[in-house]
Amino acid sequence: MQPIKLVHDGIQYSRDNVSEEKYQNFVLITNEALNTRDFTVSGFPFMLQVEPTSLCNLSCILCPTGRRELNRPYRHMRLNEFRSLIDDMERYCSFSFFGIVENHL
Ligand code: SF4
Repeated sequence: MQPIKLVHDGIQYSRDNVSEEKYQNFVLITNEALNTRDFTVSGFPFMLQVEPTSLCNLSCILCPTGRRELNRPYRHMRLNEFRSLIDDMERYCSFSFFGIVENHL
């Protein structure tokens, strides 16, 4: 188990005790990103931000969800979609459940 830390645009991303596979993927993509002009990498994201719903029952004027301006379906993520995402990516990355909308409404 290894820790990973990265500062990008002033934001610090860190995870403690990630698996060796996640750590190797992180080292691969950060080294590639720093050493290519176009930031092309051959690994996987080390962190995924998952927004499990695009629904909200409020309509805050500052929010594209509230203004109904999102260019995507308004619905919850389906369980099979969520499982597929986890199955495909859990070996390589960590997840956070956060997005534009209020995921805990
Ligand atoms: S997602 Fe948040 S900011 Fe957007 S309309 Fe709903 S409560 Fe308001």
